[in-house]
Amino acid sequence: MPVAHFCDVLLGGLAPDGGLVVPQQYPRLTAAELAGLRNLSYADLACAIIGRFIDDIPEQDLRTLVHRAYRAEVFGSAEITPLQTLEPGLHLLKLSNGPTLAFKDVAMQLLGELFEYVLKRQGRTLNILGATSGDTGSAAEYAMRGRKGIRVFMLSPHGKMSPFQRAQMYSLQDANIFNIAIRGVFDECQDIVKAVSNDAAFKSTHRIGAVNSINWARVVAQVVYYFKGYFAATSSNDEQVSFAVPSGNFGNIFAGHIARMMGLPVRHLILASNENDVLDEFFRSGRYRVRSGREVAHTSSPSMDISKASNFERFVFDLVGRDPVMVARLWREVEDAGGFNLGETPFWRDVAQYGLVSGRSTHQNRIETIRSIHKKYDVTIDPHTADGVYIGLQQRENGVPLICMETALPAKFAETIREALGHDPDVPPGYEGLQSRLQRVTVMDPDVEAVKTYIVSRTK
Ligand SMILES: *Cc1c(COP(=O)(O)O)cnc(C)c1O
Repeated sequence: MPVAHFCDVLLGGLAPDGGLVVPQQYPRLTAAELAGLRNLSYADLACAIIGRFIDDIPEQDLRTLVHRAYRAEVFGSAEITPLQTLEPGLHLLKLSNGPTLAFKDVAMQLLGELFEYVLKRQGRTLNILGATSGDTGSAAEYAMRGRKGIRVFMLSPHGKMSPFQRAQMYSLQDANIFNIAIRGVFDECQDIVKAVSNDAAFKSTHRIGAVNSINWARVVAQVVYYFKGYFAATSSNDEQVSFAVPSGNFGNIFAGHIARMMGLPVRHLILASNENDVLDEFFRSGRYRVRSGREVAHTSSPSMDISKASNFERFVFDLVGRDPVMVARLWREVEDAGGFNLGETPFWRDVAQYGLVSGRSTHQNRIETIRSIHKKYDVTIDPHTADGVYIGLQQRENGVPLICMETALPAKFAETIREALGHDPDVPPGYEGLQSRLQRVTVMDPDVEAVKTYIVSRTK
């Protein structure tokens, strides 16, 4: 495969061979380098970590972009991702204090800065086309709103998101943001995006781009908070910690894998699935079996409702000894036979060395976890975070601090919080009137040509 620079892969999606982009090697930090990171502010830490993955943005420019993305005014505090201690050795890493109250803001806010910078440098514009079932679309819109040279066309399933999520997206009045509600389910939205992106002529004429979870820059941005959480929960670099990560497309936890490969002393990366347990099944058995659309359950942690995990290919690349031919073969098996089984292969013996363990939770487990955390610590967690806490506590080990990733605030999922606690979650300051704001959305049938026509008419 040809070697690409960071800015080349920033705006592109897949590699030319249809696979995902990965770094040639992970930067490995020496003990002295790790020690030097411990007391940095979030923004400075981000410069140091992200800078290791970028070869074509001058350091001073990167500093400016990173410091603009990670500001207290945007994330509520200069900590950006503060650590909340529930009891000694048990923490929440609060990743959801950005504008859309979910962890996707952490990467997306930086992506907004990077996109604007690179497009300006290249004298280009970009029309981002995406599909969302909730959190990704709003995070992308808030990161790209008002930016020069960028428009966002976001497809969402009509009437299927929570009222709060809907209000967040549709209340944006920026001229470069276009919300399209499709009369259908999320998969139909995604199929439209795929169909449009597969039309190479349309894609290049209308400068169509994406910001989906396989975006390499998003993964890199997420590596930073694993370091941040580690330093906040420990006092010396001799200690190990474990992270519990509510997982869907394997983007968040893959960033944890990178942090660990860079030398961060992580004992376990604890992967939490909900009822849609594609990934838990793999880490228990070695068998990867993608689900059909019909098999995907609509759960109370909807951002983890996946049929396959798009970033998982990157992990499997490492697992099979970074053999691209093997990965291509396995993903052909996914296409032809719906999955593959590494359980009987020598690679499976190595899986333990990556520190990944997993579990699955059900609606009832989430409800009970929300209740017990509220009762014990007077803290309300969202249903996704509850998946992570539930599995994390099952896998918790004596003497190893457990850091549970808080991936969304409970305000986004009021219905489930009411069921668990009998009252509404707190609405963070500034979001009180959100649901009564004027909403701006175009409702359309699931029709590829109609979506194309709409894009053309808005990009003249
Ligand atoms: C996207 C999302 C997840 C899943 O993260 P992945 O990176 O796709 O594994 C979990 N929780 C929330 C709230 C999300 O928005």
